[in-house]
Amino acid sequence: MCTLRWRVLLQSILVLPVLFPSVAVAAESTFHGANALLETKKAVAFGERPSGSAAIEQLRAHIVSALKPLGGKIEMDSFGGQTPTGPVPMVNIIDKFPGTSGNIVVVAGHYDTKKIPMMNFVGANDGGSSAGFLLEFARAVSSMKHQDDIYVAFFDGEEAVGEWSETDSRYGSRHLVSKWLADGTLPKIKALVNIDMIGDKNLDISNDANSSPQLRQMVAKIAESLGDSQYFKQDSRGGIDDDHVPFVANGVNSIDLIDFDYGPGNSYWHQASDTVDKLSAHSFQVTGDVVLALVKKLDSETTK
Ligand SMILES: [Zn+2]
Repeated sequence: MCTLRWRVLLQSILVLPVLFPSVAVAAESTFHGANALLETKKAVAFGERPSGSAAIEQLRAHIVSALKPLGGKIEMDSFGGQTPTGPVPMVNIIDKFPGTSGNIVVVAGHYDTKKIPMMNFVGANDGGSSAGFLLEFARAVSSMKHQDDIYVAFFDGEEAVGEWSETDSRYGSRHLVSKWLADGTLPKIKALVNIDMIGDKNLDISNDANSSPQLRQMVAKIAESLGDSQYFKQDSRGGIDDDHVPFVANGVNSIDLIDFDYGPGNSYWHQASDTVDKLSAHSFQVTGDVVLALVKKLDSETTK
């Protein structure tokens, strides 16, 4: 027997998993803030890690060996950064976790630290936290069901060698944009989420005006649903120039999650005081939960 009412009910049961595909995966994967902090401490233990240094090479080897067991396809994107002081060898690391939709979601951040003469700048938050975050995020993705390709990208050369400018900064992201433009990857990107300086104990993530309104709204909603709104600023004090901007300039739907208020008056930024004692596992946890929920939400949307 199949009365109209039963048919409607049956149809709604059959349609349910299609409408809410994220329900089935909600409890599967987790991001552990404590692990992200631990990975950040490991990165910091290599010392100053500017592009082209022996220390960043050691960190790169560590990142690759930590990524290997996760089962993604690791690509080493080597290039020469044309800096004001000459060419510097740089390498982006991209860990690709394939899906089936043909669309791509990128979660990215930088793993180099700024070279600051006469200062032991270890960049716990600036360069360290993004590297630690991405390692833990890749681990979470490796056990998650997803239909989109998820790329976890570690950029080299975010920092300027001299004064920050269009041509002296963001070497890795600018290089990857041109590479992905040439090989046809760029139009397949549904969203790019860039992470920077999110380890700060006193977490307040900027509402960056250079980021897409759609993604900013999604992040605000997710943060609210998780009870984490207090860590995300609602007001915007303008646009932030970070690794997402080369993607934005080429039409990629992008957001930068950065806490650019580090210490009183941002006084720990690019200073010797940017050390691991200024960070907390909780800040990594808040950011990880929001980014994971954002990626799942994007993944549940069938169109780009
Ligand atoms: Zn920096």
